[in-house]
Amino acid sequence: MKLSASFQIDPQASEVAAHNREVREVWAAFKTDRPTRVPLSFTGARTIYLEENGIDYRTYYEDQDEMVRLQLEWQRRALELPFGDTILAEAPETWSVNVDFHPVASASCFGCPVVFRPDAVPAHECAHLSREQCRTMPMPDLFTSGLLPRQRGFRDRMDQLCDAGLTFLGKPVKRAKPSLPSTGGGTFSTALDIRGPEIMSDMYEDPEFVRVFLERIAEWQIALHRAWCAADGMPYAMDKPDGGDVSITDHGIDMLSPQIYDEFLVALIFKLCRKYGKRPSTFLHHCGRGTHLFSHIQKRFGVTAIHALTWPLNDVGRVRREIGDEVWVTAVISDSILNSTPAAIRQAARDFFTAEVKGRGRLSLWAPGEVTGIPTENYRALYEAVREYGRY
Ligand SMILES: [Zn+2]
Repeated sequence: MKLSASFQIDPQASEVAAHNREVREVWAAFKTDRPTRVPLSFTGARTIYLEENGIDYRTYYEDQDEMVRLQLEWQRRALELPFGDTILAEAPETWSVNVDFHPVASASCFGCPVVFRPDAVPAHECAHLSREQCRTMPMPDLFTSGLLPRQRGFRDRMDQLCDAGLTFLGKPVKRAKPSLPSTGGGTFSTALDIRGPEIMSDMYEDPEFVRVFLERIAEWQIALHRAWCAADGMPYAMDKPDGGDVSITDHGIDMLSPQIYDEFLVALIFKLCRKYGKRPSTFLHHCGRGTHLFSHIQKRFGVTAIHALTWPLNDVGRVRREIGDEVWVTAVISDSILNSTPAAIRQAARDFFTAEVKGRGRLSLWAPGEVTGIPTENYRALYEAVREYGRY
């Protein structure tokens, strides 16, 4: 495998040292809950690397060694790009690689057609099963359905490479364990993948069907993760006495009213909690437009963190008012803004960082950088604007 032999920036350069000093200070202040400015996490190195090198993303999912190589190279690239609060040019003690079929793995198990694309992560279509088909279908095999056999092949090859002593920039490479197949969202989003938006009319026409169907999916997801943990010789978090909250993260819930969310999702989450002796998670990843649900979810589960709250899809000021200053918020400025111009990005950052949004701190910004075609100067402009308007 042909890998880079060094960083492409000079670790000794004075601007790298100055950047790293500021980054350390900002994160240290943030973590002790006395922030000096809003930290920005930038994770677009993957996309930038693919674009810089003209790589067709499909090879990543077809060629086992290419998945390893690309993961290592874009981790290196992430340590070279000064577009966020990342310490640059310092290799970790161990590089980590993982079997990555996000976000289509579990949908593929249910027969949803998967589309691999040259410039983005794969996507899947809805299976559009009828109510009757949903009712009678056997749940997919935990190792042989959909893309799971391919994932096992990638996992075995990664282990072979790591066990043979693969190193990168002088540090060992290890596979992340357990290698859980990505569920791509949650119980409700998987139901949407299988049944389609009809699941929402089912909620009125045949609520008992929906309750049973959602519970079967949730139990299948638990069984899937338990099986893959066991294959890695690891206990599953939910089976440990002190770990494994029941996840409340679920894409698609923003289409539900608080009452319907209660009736179907909250009821199921608490049912699972009782069965497994667990608590609902207090961490909510939500990249949709669920402003109307957050205070409700907070009342039910005592949310302590909301992750990927996208602005301006959501009124982050209103969310702050409703959930209070104690909740940790990770906000995202939408791709459409990042795809504009440096001047527009600057203006948007200025509009975003109101006193209300910044609150008493507990706010970080995340630039996922998953969309191709965003010029690097736009990311540079975002970081500069955060350093200016994100100060306390
Ligand atoms: Zn998301």
